[in-house]
Amino acid sequence: MHKYIKILLLWLLGLCIVGCTASVPRQKKDVVVPPSPPQMHSKIHIALDNQAILLPDNVQAMQSWCDRRVDLATQRFEKFEAFKGEGTETKMLLPFDRLLTATANDANVASFYYQVHPQKELRDVAAACASRFSKWSTMVSLSRPIYDLVTRVQSDDKDTQRFLKRLLRDFRRSGVSASEEKRTQIAQLRSELTELGQQFSRNINDDVRYIWLEKNKHLAGLPEDYITSLPREQKGYRVSTDYPLSIPFMRYAENDTARFILHRKSLNRGYPKNKTVLKKILVKRYELAQLLGYDHYADYAMETLMSGSAQRVEAFIEQINELARPRSDRDYALLLKKLHATHPRAKNVGRWRHFWLTEKIKAEKYNIKGTEVRSYFPYEKVKTGLLQLTQNLFGVQIRPWKDAVLWHDSVEAYEVLENGKMIGRFYLDMHPRTGKYKHAAHFTLRTGIKGKQLPVSALVCNFPHGDELMEHRQVETFFHEFGHLLHSLFGGHQRWSDLSGIATEHDFVEAPSQMFEEWAWDPKVLQTFAVNAQGQRIPADLVRRMRAARDFGLGAHIRNQMFYASLSLQYYNKPPQEVSLTDDMIALQKQYSPFPYVPKTYFYANFGHLFGYSAVYYTYMWSEVIAADMFEVFRRKGLLNQQLARRYMRDVLGAGGSLDAADIVERFLGRPYNDQAFRARLNQSQ
Ligand SMILES: [Zn+2]
Repeated sequence: MHKYIKILLLWLLGLCIVGCTASVPRQKKDVVVPPSPPQMHSKIHIALDNQAILLPDNVQAMQSWCDRRVDLATQRFEKFEAFKGEGTETKMLLPFDRLLTATANDANVASFYYQVHPQKELRDVAAACASRFSKWSTMVSLSRPIYDLVTRVQSDDKDTQRFLKRLLRDFRRSGVSASEEKRTQIAQLRSELTELGQQFSRNINDDVRYIWLEKNKHLAGLPEDYITSLPREQKGYRVSTDYPLSIPFMRYAENDTARFILHRKSLNRGYPKNKTVLKKILVKRYELAQLLGYDHYADYAMETLMSGSAQRVEAFIEQINELARPRSDRDYALLLKKLHATHPRAKNVGRWRHFWLTEKIKAEKYNIKGTEVRSYFPYEKVKTGLLQLTQNLFGVQIRPWKDAVLWHDSVEAYEVLENGKMIGRFYLDMHPRTGKYKHAAHFTLRTGIKGKQLPVSALVCNFPHGDELMEHRQVETFFHEFGHLLHSLFGGHQRWSDLSGIATEHDFVEAPSQMFEEWAWDPKVLQTFAVNAQGQRIPADLVRRMRAARDFGLGAHIRNQMFYASLSLQYYNKPPQEVSLTDDMIALQKQYSPFPYVPKTYFYANFGHLFGYSAVYYTYMWSEVIAADMFEVFRRKGLLNQQLARRYMRDVLGAGGSLDAADIVERFLGRPYNDQAFRARLNQSQ
C-alpha cells in the first residue's frame, strides 16, 4: 500500500498538507512585532530559516516545546487580528503566509512524531499537540478580521492573484462568512473530527493480530529467509497482520486455512472499535458540510479537485469499472480455473486465494518465481540505485545530510543539490518498528518557500534492512513514494506556500508518483542496481517476463480499486442515517469487486483512507489515467532521456501548485490529457 497521505492535521485553510516533521525549527527569531499598541502596527515580520532541524527528544521536552510553539502561533494570530495597517501584499499577505508556513513547520513536527516516534508516550503527546495546532488553524480559518484584511489585498502579480484566489476560496470553505453561532459549531465539529481521525487511525495501527504456526504443517511454500525472520514462540512461529509479514504469507503460503485465517484477521483489524468511530466521523462530516452549505461531505471534498463534484466522480467510477470489466472477467476465469486444480468444487475465488493463485499463474505462464526475483533486490542496493538514478536523470547531487538530528538509529538523512546549490533535504525512515506508521508514505515536513525555506520531506516505509531482500512490489513502492518526494522537493520553490511543493489538486497528486513506478519495471534501469548475492545483474529477459506478469490480473485489480473508490464515495454522499456500514460495503463489493465478501469481516474498520481521504479514494485511479498519458512520452523517447526528464522536472514537478493540474499536464504533453494510453494498457493482450 503505497500511499501519500493527506493527514489528519487538517489545515483548514487547505494550506498545509501532510502532517509531519521530525523537526523543530531551531531558535527561530520568530515574530518581530514592535512592542507598541496594536493599532500602530504597520507590518508584521515572521522569519523562516534553513537551519537544520532539531527534535524534542523526551516527553517533557516535547510537551514544553508544544506549549511554547502553540502559544507563539496564538500570539502571532492575535497580532494579525489586531492589525490596523494597510492590507497590502507586502505588509499583510506576505507576513500572513509566513505565519501559516512557520506554524505548519511546527504542526508538521507534531503530526509526524505521532506517526513515527519510537516512544509511545511521546507519540501520545505529539498527537495531542497536533490537535492543538489543528484547533489553531480552525481558529485562523474562521477569523473575520483576517478574512477582511485578505479581501482588501490587490496585486498585479499572477502568482499572488492565484494565491489570493485560493486563500479566499479556502476561507469561504471554512465557513468564515457564517454567523457567529455557526462558526462556533464549525470549530467544535472540526476539533471533534481531528480527535476522531486520530482515534480511527490509532485503532488500526494498534490492532496487530497474530497466528501461531508449525513449520512443517503451515509454512510450506514460504521462502527460507522469511521463515527465519519470524519470531519463534512456545506456540510456534508467529505471523502478524503487519504488511511486511502478511503480504509474502498471502502470496506464497501453501496452507489454504492458514491464509484464510490471516486474511480474516487482517480484515477485522480495528473492529469493533472503529465501527462507532467511523459512524461518528460520517455524522460530524455531514453536519459540517450542511453548515457550510453543501448537500453532503463528498461535494465539499471534491469542490477543489479536478473532478469538481461527487456526481462526476460517480460517473468516473462507473466508466472505469466498465472499461475494466471484460479484462477482469478474463482474469477471474483464469484464477478460478487454476483454483479448480486444487479445489475442484470451488464456486468462486476468495481474496485470500487471489494473491497465492496469481503467484502460481505468474510462475507458470511467465516462468517467474517471486523468490528468484527477490534475490536481485537487497534493500541497500535498491536504495543506492534509486538515488543514483535520480542524480543521473535530473542532474542533481544527493549527499548525506551530516548534521541532521534523527529520531531513530535506522533513519538516514540526505541533501539534494542542483548546480552546487542546495534545493532540499529528505529523511528515509524505511524499516519497521513497534508503534510506527505501518504503510508507506511521503510526508512533507517543510514546504519550500523560494529564497526563504528549503523543502524538507520524509519517506516512511516498512521495508527489509541492509542486505535483506525486497519484494519487487516493495521496490515499486519505494519508487512511488520517491516520486512524491521529488515532486515536493523540485516543486518546493514557489513564493507562496499554497502554490509550493505538492500543493496541487489531490486527484493529480498521485500522477507523478505512479508514473515514476514505471522506472522500477525497466530492464536498463534495473540492471544498474539489481544484483544478486553472486554478483549477477538481473537478466533483461526476466524483467520483460516480470512486466508481462505485472499486468496479469490488472482488470480484476482495477475493479477491486473501484470497489474501494465507491465505498469511500458512497459513505459520504448521503445523509449518514442512510448509510449502513456493513450492508453498503457488502453491496458495493458485490457490484464492483470480482472477489466475494468474506462473512463476518469489516474491512471499513481498517480502511484508513476513509478518514484521511474521506470521499476521494478515486483520486488514485484518476491520477493513474493521467500518469499513463504522461508516461507515454517517456516510453517513446526513453526512460533515461535526460533532456526529457529535465523538462518534466521543470514543467510538471517544478510547477508545484502554481498552475491548475490540467494546464501543467497540457504544457508537458502539448495537448490536453486523455485516457487513450490507459485504455491501451487495459486492452493489450495477455
Ligand atoms: Zn502515492
